[in-house]
Amino acid sequence: MGDQAPPTLMQLARQRLLREEDLTISILEDLPVELLQEMFQEAFNDRRTNILRAMVSAWPFPDLSVRALIKDSDLETLKALLDGLDVLITDKVHPRRSKLRVLDLADEDHEFWRIRAGTHEGDCSPQAERQEQPVEISPNSGVKKRFKVVTDLELIKTRFNPCDWYLLQWAQQRNDSIHVCCRKLKIWDSPVFAAVQIFKFINLDCILELQLSQWSLEFMVQLFPYLEQMKNLHTLELVGIRKPLRSAASAEQEWISMLLSQISRFPCLQNLSVHNIYFLTGCLEKWLRYLKTPLKTLAITACQLSQSDLDYLSQCLNICELKHLHLIGVELSDSCPKLLGVLLERISSTLQTLELEECEMRDCHFNAILPSLSQCSQLTVVNFCNNNISLLVLKKLLHHTAKLSTLTHEKYPAPLECYEELRILKDKFKLLCPELLDILRAERQPKKVSFSTRTCLNCFHCCFYNLEVRLFCLCP
Ligand SMILES: [Zn+2]
Ligand SMILES: [Zn+2]
Repeated sequence: MGDQAPPTLMQLARQRLLREEDLTISILEDLPVELLQEMFQEAFNDRRTNILRAMVSAWPFPDLSVRALIKDSDLETLKALLDGLDVLITDKVHPRRSKLRVLDLADEDHEFWRIRAGTHEGDCSPQAERQEQPVEISPNSGVKKRFKVVTDLELIKTRFNPCDWYLLQWAQQRNDSIHVCCRKLKIWDSPVFAAVQIFKFINLDCILELQLSQWSLEFMVQLFPYLEQMKNLHTLELVGIRKPLRSAASAEQEWISMLLSQISRFPCLQNLSVHNIYFLTGCLEKWLRYLKTPLKTLAITACQLSQSDLDYLSQCLNICELKHLHLIGVELSDSCPKLLGVLLERISSTLQTLELEECEMRDCHFNAILPSLSQCSQLTVVNFCNNNISLLVLKKLLHHTAKLSTLTHEKYPAPLECYEELRILKDKFKLLCPELLDILRAERQPKKVSFSTRTCLNCFHCCFYNLEVRLFCLCP
C-alpha cells in the first residue's frame, strides 16, 4: 500500500463522477469514451445501479462484457444491467451514441475487456467471438433478434441460481428482441422435464460446452433429440451416469449404444471428459472410434480401463492431435507398461498437459514413458501424484522433465522410500525434497513444482513441499 502512486487526474475525475450520480447520468453521452470503460468497472464494483443502468443504455460499443465482474455480482446489479437494455428495447428514448447489441455475462476467466470493433448482426455466431470455434450457421435463427445476452447456465435439479432465473424470466418476456446465448450449460441431477424446458428455450446450436451430471441412463435417453441439435458443441463432460434402476439388460445395452452413437455424431466435439462412468470399461473403442474430429482433450477420471482399452487408446487415430491427456484415478498397475509408452509417443508432438494422478503406476510404467516424455516439447503441465515410484526412478523422471523447458506446473509423488508400510517418514521426505528439487534446478528454474505424499491414514493430512510451502502430516 505504501508505495501506491497518487491518483491520476482521470481517476479523480471518475471518482467525482461516480459520486455525483444525477449529474453524471445527465452528461453520460458527452463523456469521453476512454473514461467509460474504467468508470463502468468502478460503478460495477461499487454496485452503483443507477449509473450502471444509464451506462448500459448509452454504451458506445457493440459489445459489453462483464465476464470478469459477474462472478461476484448480485441480483440488483444484474437487474440494473438488464434495465439498461430495456431502455434500448422499448426504444422510447434511444441514447444518441448507443451501439450496444451484445451483453456478455458469461462467467469466464478471460481477459477483462473484450470490446470488439465492427458491427454485430444480432444473431448467434459463436465463431465471431471465439475464433477457434467452428463455423456453423444456425438453421433456427431465421428471425434476427436485436440484442444478445451471452450467459452460462447451471440447472441443479429443478433450480437455477437467482440471477440466472431472473435473466431467463426477463428474456422470456422479451422473446422477440432478446437472444439468450447460452455457451456453457451444466445440468445436475435434473428431472427430464426441467432439462427439456431449458433446451426448448435456448438455441441449442449456441451451446459449446455441456456437462451432464448424475443422470440415470434411462432418463438421459430422452435428451438425445435435443443433444442432436447441438451442432457447435465442442466440449462434453459426463459425470456419474447411473445404471438404470429397472429395465432389461437388452434395453440398457441399446441405450448405451444410442449414447455412444450420439457422441459420435457431434460434428465439432474436441474435448471429452468422462467421470465415473460404469459402462466405459472394455468399450473405449466404441466411445472414440467414430468421432467426427480428432480430440484435443481426453479426460478419464474414476473409471476402470481394461487392457484392451489401453491397447486401443495407444493406436486410436482420434487422439493423434491430443493436447490434454488426463487419467485420474484410473488404475494402471496391471497394465502393460509398453502401451503407455506407445500412447505417449503418439501424442508427444502435440501434448500440452499430462495428468496421470492416482493411477497406481509402478516403476516399470514410469520407465516406459520416459523416452517419449523427453520428446513432449509442448508440455506445460505434468502431474504424477499418488503413484508408486522408487527414489531411483523418480530421480530419472526428474532428469527427463528437467530438460522440458516449457513446463510451468509440475507435481510429483513422494518416492516409496518415504513410507514404512502405511506410515509416512516425514524426516526422510523433508530431507529428500530439496535434493529432488536440485535435479530440476540444475537445468532450469522451475516455476511451480511440488512433491507430495499420499494422505496419512492416521491424521488424514499429507506431506507437501513446494517452493514456498512445506506442510507435514500431524503424526508425531
Ligand atoms: Zn447464441
Ligand atoms: Zn499422519
